[in-house]
Amino acid sequence: MSSKGYRPGLNAKTLGITFLIALLVVGATALTARAFERLHEKVEQLSQVEMENLMNSIRIVQQAESLIGLGLMLSVAETQNDRRRALVELNDRTTWVRQMTEDLSKQQIDAEILHRVAEVQQELELNTRILNHLVRERINGRLGLSELENLTNVAEKNRELAGEIAVLIGYVAAIVRSDINAQSMTLQRQIKEHQQNLIALAVFIVLFALFAGIYFHITVVRRILRMQQSVEKTPVILSDFEQHGHDEIARLSQTMARYIRRIQKQEAHMKHVNQELSFLAEHDSLTGLANRRHYHAAAKRLLRQSHLPICVALCDVDHFKEVNDQRGHATGDLVLQSIANLLSQGLRETDVLSRYGGEEFATIFTIQSKQDADVIFEKLRSVVESTPIEISGQPVVWLTCSFGFAVIEGLPLSSNLTDESIKELLDYALLTADEALYEAKSMGRNRVCSTEAPITISCIKGSEENAL
Ligand code: GH3
Ligand code: MG
Ligand code: MG
Repeated sequence: MSSKGYRPGLNAKTLGITFLIALLVVGATALTARAFERLHEKVEQLSQVEMENLMNSIRIVQQAESLIGLGLMLSVAETQNDRRRALVELNDRTTWVRQMTEDLSKQQIDAEILHRVAEVQQELELNTRILNHLVRERINGRLGLSELENLTNVAEKNRELAGEIAVLIGYVAAIVRSDINAQSMTLQRQIKEHQQNLIALAVFIVLFALFAGIYFHITVVRRILRMQQSVEKTPVILSDFEQHGHDEIARLSQTMARYIRRIQKQEAHMKHVNQELSFLAEHDSLTGLANRRHYHAAAKRLLRQSHLPICVALCDVDHFKEVNDQRGHATGDLVLQSIANLLSQGLRETDVLSRYGGEEFATIFTIQSKQDADVIFEKLRSVVESTPIEISGQPVVWLTCSFGFAVIEGLPLSSNLTDESIKELLDYALLTADEALYEAKSMGRNRVCSTEAPITISCIKGSEENAL
């Protein structure tokens, strides 16, 4: 197959579709992976930083609440030991609260509130120092009545400041919690969006695959099926094949059409040759008349089918040897053709006329009575006798023919003769006709002779009995 005009269309299309599907799958996978990564990050953030902030806030609130109790313990201490213990505890908690508040402020939660917390803390530390001093003086018994009242006020102030820290941090905790809520809602929304995107992508991939399948069916499968159906038709109709197009299937279709056209031509040629061969097998090449083999087959068929009398005749050209001797063999051939023409023109088209031997012809046909045959052969004899045979460039040839025939009487419908009997009947009739022909020759030629009595089935049986 020549590669001229070939375009690898299907290859390119198949590769293109495969590449697109692969691209879609890779894209979808990458998008999904990225989405899950982001969700993972968000969840991590929520679970670690935000939850830590929330826990810290709660802890600060608890510590701030315990500061109230410790402040009270300090203010009511009866001994220096009780005072010191309460003070150490109070300082510890205050330091702890300060550190955790600083941690929270690093997370940039609410700078304004945390700044206010830091201020209150400083105030609380200062107030604690004053309270501590007043308590120490009270234990030592160096406080007057008015200073005792002051101590009560400072203690009250301490309680208020610790309470304010607890309230402020409680507010921070509420903000963190609402932040967590907001982020969790955002997260849920994003998850939903990703889910919808994934569903849309999956639907798109399915639709694309469906489209690719339909496209493949139309561009490949349907065309191959059409080609296969065209080949199965008898005869194959060449116009069913694709005449145009340059892709693989179009080229296959065009090649098949060319191949089938070649086969069809060869088939037509073979048919013609077969017809010629079967004609040659049944006809004589010089005259175009049936040959002896065909004559026998046709004669047997007629004998089996007809229930009318049948005439079997032989015709021999008189002194034909002289034509050959005087004019040459080639002229003799032309003369034989002319005589064959004269004889066949004098007979019906359905009558079987054959060239039986060299210059001898045989015929067989149905008749109503022996007189019909007498008339027909007399006419033939007269036509040959009176017709000059013209060969270009040569003097005309005058010839006569001798005829001998026999009549087989109509066979009854119930005869049901075997092939062998039919053959015997025909051979017997030919032999009889030959005897009549011999008689015609003996009597001086150019005449028609026949046997008087018709041939019957009993003739053959009789001949069999005679042979026995
Ligand atoms: P008769 O009247 O007794 O039949 O005489 P005849 O000369 O016709 O008979 P004979 O049998 O002596 O000669 C027949 C001749 O026919 C001899 C042969 O050369 C010739 N012949 C046979 N077949 C052909 C043929 O195909 N072409 C030609 N040109 N001559 C043929
Ligand atoms: Mg002869
Ligand atoms: Mg002869």
